[in-house]
Amino acid sequence: MNVGIIGGSISGLYAAIAIKTKYPDYTVYVIEQNDRLLKKIYATGNGHCNLLNADLKAERYSHSKWIESYLKRFPYQRLTDYLTKLGIPLLRKGDLVYPLSYSAGSFCRYLIELANKLGIKAYVNEKVIDYGKGTIKTDKGSHHYDLLIFAFGGQSQSNLGSDGSLFPVLKKHGYDIVPLRPGLVPIKTKQKTKGLKGVRHEALVKAYDNHNQLLFEEAGEVLFKEDGLSGIVIFNLSSHLVRAGGDQFRITLDLFPDHTEDDLFALAYSNPTPGAYLYTLVEYPLGIYVRNQLKNLSDIRGFCKALKNLSFDFDSFYSFVSSQVTIGGVSLSDVTSELVSKKEESVYFIGECLDVDGDCGGYNLSWCLISALTVSEAL
Ligand SMILES: Cc1cc2nc3c(=O)[nH]c(=O)nc-3n(C[C@H](O)[C@H](O)[C@H](O)COP(=O)(O)OP(=O)(O)OC[C@H]3O[C@@H](n4cnc5c(N)ncnc54)[C@H](O)[C@@H]3O)c2cc1C
Repeated sequence: MNVGIIGGSISGLYAAIAIKTKYPDYTVYVIEQNDRLLKKIYATGNGHCNLLNADLKAERYSHSKWIESYLKRFPYQRLTDYLTKLGIPLLRKGDLVYPLSYSAGSFCRYLIELANKLGIKAYVNEKVIDYGKGTIKTDKGSHHYDLLIFAFGGQSQSNLGSDGSLFPVLKKHGYDIVPLRPGLVPIKTKQKTKGLKGVRHEALVKAYDNHNQLLFEEAGEVLFKEDGLSGIVIFNLSSHLVRAGGDQFRITLDLFPDHTEDDLFALAYSNPTPGAYLYTLVEYPLGIYVRNQLKNLSDIRGFCKALKNLSFDFDSFYSFVSSQVTIGGVSLSDVTSELVSKKEESVYFIGECLDVDGDCGGYNLSWCLISALTVSEAL
């Protein structure tokens, strides 16, 4: 039995390892267009690789109803047991779970070694251009398959591999491809934030639609960019706004969620120079920015109000080049609950190429493992 896997990143390797372990006699191979396996994974979690989240909630994913049954079938404990048995001990920081080494590089090297040892073949520097009737066609030649697993990711950060080039091919084969959008990206705002570039501040972030309906609320560190907002909480916000649809959103930052406006006002006046004191509560450029929102520059009450409710109008999302995940992909209505194609025999889909995406915090890599295990168990 020949199992061909298109994409030699995390979903592909997880599936290859699980299948080869279960069926040592099978020929299992991955085809990867990059010059090495797992290229994107070295960059994950700021080089630490946030592999799992200990609190795998369906609402942290798009299509939360659809994903519920997978999260029930593969609860956190099952995933950690599996990885630990595979020789990947884990480190938990709150709900975020990393390899014990806290190093994406060590994790990747181990996974590649393991795949090698199991006898999984890897064809790198080879781009798949089409498939059918048991043959994968590449820019270098062809490979025979009995089972075909698509694990080619989305379209985010194509410098790391996934360029979305197989979606048109799948469309030609009759698949419904849900339009691709960048997810987990910085947001450009209408307000000019040039002077704030590089400033970081913890905030409670809220977003409203043009009917003033609250769409999102989450606390976290905001990183100001020269033309907008970034940071994990903003990445999560971006995906929620894409899913909400539309392009008129108001984003508010409460820079002091643990203080009321009156607390800040009292704090300011407990000091001989209330105005100057308020500046010291935030980084200097942020203080200037907040002050510039005021009609009357010496309005202490107004300053406190603005610290609690700094408002930005959404302009646009950054592009795929800056996005961590792709929203859209192969429609979930084209696969069974075992992730088998409903259109073609012996064809499976795993990982990010499916129309599933999660928030920051290990949800996307968790899905890669869950989907790979789903397919290996189905065989
Ligand atoms: C900077 C960054 C940091 C991230 N950090 C985290 C994190 O800490 N935790 C988390 O959960 N998620 C994180 N993510 C998201 C996560 O990395 C992805 O969701 C995950 O890598 C998807 O895995 P995949 O194997 O499905 O696809 P990918 O990792 O995108 O891999 C697909 C592979 O298929 C190959 N390929 C594509 N087309 C072809 C073709 N035609 N022929 C041959 N090969 C092809 C690509 O080259 C690529 O190597 C991060 C993403 C980025 C960009």
